[in-house]
Amino acid sequence: MSMLKTMLRESKVPQDVVINALTYIIDAEIDEIIPEYNEREGFTYGEFTRLAVRYNLTEEDIFEELERLGVLKPEKYKKIIRCPQCGSSRLLSQLACPQCGSTDVNRITLVSHVSCGYTGVLEDMASDEGFICKKCKKPLGKEGTDYLKIGSLFRCESCASRFDAPHPHYECLGCNYSFGHREADYHTLNKYEVNKDKLKDYVEEIILGKIYDELVAEGYKIERNAKIKGQSGLDHTTNIIVRKDHDFVLIDTIVDTENITSDILTVFGKHVDLGSPKHIVIVPSKTASLIAFRVGSSNIKLVVFDVVSEAIYKTKEAVKELLETIS
Ligand SMILES: [Zn+2]
Ligand SMILES: [Zn+2]
Ligand SMILES: [Zn+2]
Repeated sequence: MSMLKTMLRESKVPQDVVINALTYIIDAEIDEIIPEYNEREGFTYGEFTRLAVRYNLTEEDIFEELERLGVLKPEKYKKIIRCPQCGSSRLLSQLACPQCGSTDVNRITLVSHVSCGYTGVLEDMASDEGFICKKCKKPLGKEGTDYLKIGSLFRCESCASRFDAPHPHYECLGCNYSFGHREADYHTLNKYEVNKDKLKDYVEEIILGKIYDELVAEGYKIERNAKIKGQSGLDHTTNIIVRKDHDFVLIDTIVDTENITSDILTVFGKHVDLGSPKHIVIVPSKTASLIAFRVGSSNIKLVVFDVVSEAIYKTKEAVKELLETIS
C-alpha cells in the first residue's frame, strides 16, 4: 500500500479532489499559492477555487488536506472582512454615524475667525466668493493669520450629531446586505508555500495510480510493486506489470532528480537481469537527456512527459503498442 493511498483514506474531501489539486501543483510547477483579488469574484485562489466550487467545498477544505499531506505550509497573508450573509469579499466601504447608523456622514473642519472670535464649521461657510464668516459676514481671509484651524471631526447629516470616530460600515456587492463592524466576518486569508520535496514523493504515486486505474478500466491484468526473479537469482521489484495473454510489459518511473544516478542503475540493471523484457520507463522531460543515452536495449521505451496527463496518455499508448506487437 502506497504512502499517498494510505494518507488519502483519512481524507475529509474526495480523493479525486486531492489528486486533482496535487496534479495541478505538479503540472503548473507552483511554488507558492497566493490569493488574488478581482472585481468579479473578490479574493480567490484561482484554479483551487474553481476546483472547490465544482465539488461544493471551500478552498480551505482542500488546502487543509494538502497541509496534512505535508505538501503545503500555510502562512498568514491578509486579514479581510467578508459579508456575514454570503461570504463575499467584494464590499463597498462606508462610514456610519455611531448615534443613528446613517452613512450620510461628512468630515468637517472647525475654524476660529481671529477678527470676530467666531468658531464654526469651515465647510458651512463656503460660497461662490470663498469662505464667508457666519457671524461677521466678512471673508475669512488667510489661514493661519486671519483664521485658525482648530481641528477636524465628523458630522452626521441625518441626526446632526458630531463625533471623532465614525463606525466602519459595509455594503456587500454580492448580495446587497448592509452591515457594521460588529456583524462583519473577520477572515484570515492564508498564502501557502509548496514543499517541493514532499510533492516529489507523490509525483510517482500519482502517475502510477492513474495509469493503473486507466489500464484496469481497459481490461488489462495488472500487478503493482510486483516481484520478479532475475537471471542472477535476485528478486526485482517493478512499479507495474501489465499482462495480456502470455505477454507482459514492465512499467517503471525515474522521477526523483536527486537519486537519478542510482535510479537509472537500478532500472537498467534490472532490465538486463530480467533478460531484456518489454519495458516502459517514464521520465520527466527535464531529466530525459540524462537518461536517454543510457538506454542500451531496444526493448526499453522511454515515455517523456511535461505534465502528468501526458505521462498517463503516452504510457497507455505505449502499452497498447507493445502488447499488440508480436515480439
Ligand atoms: Zn446620525
Ligand atoms: Zn467673523
Ligand atoms: Zn453578501
